[in-house]
Amino acid sequence: MKIQGKQRFSSRFRDFIPILIVCMAAALTSYLLGPGRYTQRIILLVVLWAIASSSFNIISGYGGQVVFGYMMFVGTGAYTTVLLFKFLAVSPWFGMWVGVIAAVVTALIIGLPTLRLHGAFFAVATVAFPLITFPILNHLGFEELSIPFIGHGASSMQFRDMRFYVLIATALLAIVLAIAKVVESSRFGFALRALKQNETAAESMGINTYRTKLMAFLLSAGMGALMGTLYAFGLLYVLTTHSVFGTSIIVKILSITIVGGIATVWGPPLAACLLVPIGEFLNSQFGNQYPGVQDIIYGVALIASILYMPEGIWGKIRGAFRSRPPKSPVSTEPLTVKGFTEKVADKPHGCDLFVPEPIQPATSHKGTDEPILRMENISKFFGGVHALRDVTIEVPRGKIIGVIGPNGSGKTTLFNVINGFLKPETGRITFEGQDITRLRPHSSCKLGIGRTFQVPQVLSSMTVLENIMIGAFNVWGNASRAHAEAEKVVHQVGLSNRAHDRAVGLTMWETKMLEFSRALATRPRLLLVDEPMAGLNPEEANRIGEIITAIGNSGITVIVIEHIVHSLVKIADWMVGLDDGNKVTEGLPREVISDPHIIEAYLGAKWRERHVGS
Ligand code: ADP
Ligand code: MG
Repeated sequence: MKIQGKQRFSSRFRDFIPILIVCMAAALTSYLLGPGRYTQRIILLVVLWAIASSSFNIISGYGGQVVFGYMMFVGTGAYTTVLLFKFLAVSPWFGMWVGVIAAVVTALIIGLPTLRLHGAFFAVATVAFPLITFPILNHLGFEELSIPFIGHGASSMQFRDMRFYVLIATALLAIVLAIAKVVESSRFGFALRALKQNETAAESMGINTYRTKLMAFLLSAGMGALMGTLYAFGLLYVLTTHSVFGTSIIVKILSITIVGGIATVWGPPLAACLLVPIGEFLNSQFGNQYPGVQDIIYGVALIASILYMPEGIWGKIRGAFRSRPPKSPVSTEPLTVKGFTEKVADKPHGCDLFVPEPIQPATSHKGTDEPILRMENISKFFGGVHALRDVTIEVPRGKIIGVIGPNGSGKTTLFNVINGFLKPETGRITFEGQDITRLRPHSSCKLGIGRTFQVPQVLSSMTVLENIMIGAFNVWGNASRAHAEAEKVVHQVGLSNRAHDRAVGLTMWETKMLEFSRALATRPRLLLVDEPMAGLNPEEANRIGEIITAIGNSGITVIVIEHIVHSLVKIADWMVGLDDGNKVTEGLPREVISDPHIIEAYLGAKWRERHVGS
């Protein structure tokens, strides 16, 4: 099946043409409507709110990190430029960049400590800043700061004709939309969308989630500050602490972003075109009687959108026009696998695995008998629970290592410690001779350690193809290359007919295939596989065994945790038994399953009678 949509994954000049056309049309409309201040003010507000919402959309829409205090950046930009202009006669054209720097520094101060934390810390911290600045600025007497008029002229950004402001603002809007477009189709944008859905999955596929969030936050902050400057200079008389640092700013931005469509390029400008004129109309008609009446429209639209159209107007339009390949739950494509000796067309799932060449380390370790992974005296505690106690394991290169043990014996913790989700209390881990004890998961992935999860961690609202692209980005910086690789893998695993379906609707088998192919797309040399057969029927479990064997045959070292011990015995070269955080045995599979400790702790005498024979 031909996979369509290649052009969606790389930004080319023609992708920006609609942005140019729309922004030029806005500027032309403004010009043709004449210099009337009221009309031009509304057009300017539409463009300014489109800029602010599109900028907010980068960190909060694409990245999912809601910045409730976003008005602080608008305020910082506005205040910095105006204060510099008023007291030091600094040109606003220069001052606006000082405003950008001030906003970026503010974002760094807030983001550096809080973006590392999970939960609502970041969102809450962003609210704190405007709460602090508001009274300070009031106290300094800057509540109502007017811009001194020094004569009309471009250098002071003081124009008699409001249309000049509209022109500048539409140019900025074009830049902001172009940035959003690049974000949407670049590696950075994919990383943002991935971490928004599942940070665990994103990290384990080589995405530095902290750095990605921070970069997006700084970008959003800087663009918000630019909007703030234009806001202040375009509307002179509105510069008060209330209007630039106040909550009404964030309410408007949230409303416009959500009503238009979160994480879309066109949603925010579209919603700004609809909501801002209605708000201004209400204000002009009833504002004197009911101050703040225009905010009602933003509140009502926000609630209505959340209830009836959470994907927003643009999300709805895009969904209606996006064509999808026909669905078919089961693939029957005949495929062969590197390392497999048989054709698998007649297998129940007609599915097979493409094993991309592992990325090679800077120094070749091929042919050496150095263990690929060495864990020395690893201990991990959770309060009083000793999940791992003084565990030492050496993993030979190119082998399949099986790990068994009762529930809670520390198997998953072992994986979390290896790939960096957990730091051990004691001990040292080396991968190809390099100390990785304190590395974070994305760095482990970059080094060549791939992972699948006991509870599958797919990026459920991304498509199957996009999920695999996220893995491929570990190797390819360019979206088209990652897309090409993902297309190849998706075909080879027999998920072509699901390529454009969201991962949320996959069957358990398809989900497992997706996890395998995404992990393999990162091109690991060591693959950690956590209970791959769980939730599958015996036939499917057998197929998983064959797939792991194929991966092993391709040269990748595999560590597999599995409860279905008789299946594991068939594929493992070496086995390790854990019990209560201790390594209780290791050896050839037959030896390990005959070990009295393992039989007593885990398998039971009946199991031995059935599978080993008396
Ligand atoms: P297994 O994978 O062998 O079933 P785990 O490694 O998941 O076992 O868990 C080992 C022990 O550590 C269990 O007692 C579990 O409750 C505990 N544990 C694992 N992860 C955490 C965590 N993040 N916080 C607290 N306790 C944990
Ligand atoms: Mg587990």
